[in-house]
Amino acid sequence: MSRVFNFSAGPAMLPEEVLRTCAEEMLDYHGSGQSVMEMSHRSKVFDEIIKTAEADFRKLLGVPDNYKVLFMQGGAWTQFSAIPMNLMVNKKADYIITGQWAKKAWQEGKKYGDARAIASSEDRTFSYIPDVSDLPISEDADYVYICQNNTIYGTRYKELPNTKGHVLVSDVSSMFLSEPMDVTKYGILYGGVQKNVGPAGMAIVCIREDLIREDVMSETPTLLKYKVIADNDSLFNTPPCYTIYVCGLVFKWLLKEGGLGAIQKKNQEKADILYGFLDKSDMFKGTVEKEYRSLMNVPFITDSDELNKKFIAEAEEKGFINLKGHRSVGGMRASIYNAMPKEGVERLVSFMEDFEKKNS
Ligand SMILES: *Cc1c(COP(=O)(O)O)cnc(C)c1O
Repeated sequence: MSRVFNFSAGPAMLPEEVLRTCAEEMLDYHGSGQSVMEMSHRSKVFDEIIKTAEADFRKLLGVPDNYKVLFMQGGAWTQFSAIPMNLMVNKKADYIITGQWAKKAWQEGKKYGDARAIASSEDRTFSYIPDVSDLPISEDADYVYICQNNTIYGTRYKELPNTKGHVLVSDVSSMFLSEPMDVTKYGILYGGVQKNVGPAGMAIVCIREDLIREDVMSETPTLLKYKVIADNDSLFNTPPCYTIYVCGLVFKWLLKEGGLGAIQKKNQEKADILYGFLDKSDMFKGTVEKEYRSLMNVPFITDSDELNKKFIAEAEEKGFINLKGHRSVGGMRASIYNAMPKEGVERLVSFMEDFEKKNS
C-alpha cells in the first residue's frame, strides 16, 4: 500500500490513524456485531457515538452552554439557505464578499430578503480582505455574514468585522478546528465537514440559543429549521451516522494531539515552510497579500500556464495530488489541513525546489 499526499481542498485528507480505526471497527463496532453503517440511529450504541462526538467537539472548541451544536445534512451550501430562512426576521442581512463562497451565500440570501453586499475584495480578484472596521451596516440587519477562510483564493480574516452590535455569522468550512476560536463572538459559526473534519455530507452548526426560533420564514423546510434539529438533538430524522462517527474519531485524534492550540502551532509551522519557500523562489509566487494569507489553502503560480501544467503533472507522478488551482483561478493550490503531515509539506517543497532547478 502506498498513500499519496493529497492537497485537495475537499474532500481532503483524514488522519491515517482515524482511517485505521475505521477499518478495524468496520465489521464489528465495539462488540456490537455490526458496522456503524448498519446500526439504528435510535440504538443505544449510536446514541453514545453522537453524544460523545458532540461532547468532544464542545471540549475542543470551548463551546459555551448557551450554544447548540447541530449536525445537519447537506454541506455548507445548505446553510446558505438555512441561515436567512431562520435568521431574517427583518428580512435584512449584510454580507462581506471575500470570495466565491461568500458570494454564493449572498446570492442565496437574496432569495429570502434584502441581502446587501457591504464590502468586497472582488476588485483585485479576492486577493485580500477589505477593511471591516467601520462598515455601513444597516441598523436593522439581522446578521452580518462572512466567510472567514476563503478556500479558493487562500485568504483569511486577521480580525473579525466590527458588526456594531449585530449578530455575526461565519462560514469556517476550510478552517474548522484548525485553531482555537472564541465562540462567543459569533451568533452562528458553521462549516461543511469535508474540508478539515470528516467525510462529506454534513455541516456542523454552532448557534447561540437565542437565535433558534419558532417563527422562522414560513416556507422553511422542516429539515432546515434549527429549532427542529436542536429540539431533537440532531436526531429528528436519520442523520449521516457514519459521517458523525468519523468526525467523532477526528475529534478524539485532535484531543490526543493536544487540542486546537497544539494543532494551530503545527499548522503555522507547515504554512511557514511553504510560504517561506514561495517568498524566496524565483519561479513560484504566492497570489495573495501577505497579511491575509490562509494557513489552510495556499494558492501559487509560475508565470507560465505551460509550466503550471507541467508542474501539476510531474507532482502527481511523485504522489503529490490535487495541486491544481480552482477552475475559476487556475495555477496551483496546496490545501494543508490538519491531517496533512509536516512531512507532506516538506517533501512538496523539496520537489518544488528540484522542479525549479530543472526548469530554469
Ligand atoms: C467547500 C466550501 C463550501 C461549500 O461546501 P459544500 O459542503 O460543498 O456545500 C462553502 N464554504 C466554504 C468556505 C467552502 O470551502
